[in-house]
Amino acid sequence: MNEVPSANLNLPDPHEIRVGVGQLLKHLQRVGVEYLPAADPGRAEQWTTTLLASVAQPAPVAAEPSAAASVTPEGLGQPAAAAPPAPAPPVAAPAAPVAAPPAAAPPAAAPPQPAATPPTAAPQTPAPAARPQPAAAAAPGPTIYRTASLPIADRQASLEHWGQQVAQCTLCHELACTRKQTVFGAGHAQARVVFFGEAPGADEDREGIPFVGRAGQLLTKIIEATKLSRDEVYIMNTLKCRPPGNRNPLPDELKNCRPFFEAQLEIIQPEYIVCLGLFAAQSLLQSAPSIGRMRGRFHNYHGSKVVVTYHPSYLLRNAKMKGAVWQDMQMMMRAMGTLPA
Ligand code: URA
Repeated sequence: MNEVPSANLNLPDPHEIRVGVGQLLKHLQRVGVEYLPAADPGRAEQWTTTLLASVAQPAPVAAEPSAAASVTPEGLGQPAAAAPPAPAPPVAAPAAPVAAPPAAAPPAAAPPQPAATPPTAAPQTPAPAARPQPAAAAAPGPTIYRTASLPIADRQASLEHWGQQVAQCTLCHELACTRKQTVFGAGHAQARVVFFGEAPGADEDREGIPFVGRAGQLLTKIIEATKLSRDEVYIMNTLKCRPPGNRNPLPDELKNCRPFFEAQLEIIQPEYIVCLGLFAAQSLLQSAPSIGRMRGRFHNYHGSKVVVTYHPSYLLRNAKMKGAVWQDMQMMMRAMGTLPA
């Protein structure tokens, strides 16, 4: 009998398997499983070693997005036929360790642990104002979060800790001199969904809470349309300080602030991250040619499924794009199981 070449076997994409196994392990960890019994310990060990080695590899370049064309609605300025090839590996480059909190919670499950102290531990002693370390932009990163999922109380304590670090941060001199206060993030420490915006505006700078102005009110409606509430999700920005005059964030500012949002995501480890606008998408994925090209499919950030969509401020100026955002939310809801497929 002729051997069937493996390329013809229609096997699942190894990257998808790695991500899927990572998510399964995370799920088991969340529900309290601390170890998995193995019928054949030698074989299980070999399997684990192979799996962890492969998880530590950079993810392959994403395939041509066939789904994008069907998701992108007609007449919204994003013609389906023009959908370009996927621009970049779907995994964000890893963070260098953020300024280390004192004690790390021991990992409870299988994700590979780097030698560096993870940014998720609840502080035991007040730390001095941390200088975040810039991420190594070009280095390949883990395809799943580096640390074990934490209980909610530890997440809240860690977020609180990082909020205090941010409040003391003066790395961006201009922003530190002009801000009224920092805007760290708000919402549930165990949120399934994180909404990720650009930077605080005047209203947020005044109140210290993200997305409370006009764009924020629209975001609240978007969140509620997905059958969630602001209290159930987590909302944050790439920058924690308002750029004066609402100018665009500068590259150095994005770089300085990156470890803070990486720490937040490492703590929350959401299933979904919704990038609102190009700055959020570019910061998170470290490559995003345009929103139109990134929409209509999931990207990956350490195992979180990333949705890229338009910023609510843009929708305030271009109401006809609301349908596109609604399509993106429906794509997420179908995956979440809150909208029939
Ligand atoms: N726009 C953003 O991107 N973030 C906010 O918090 C408010 C407006």
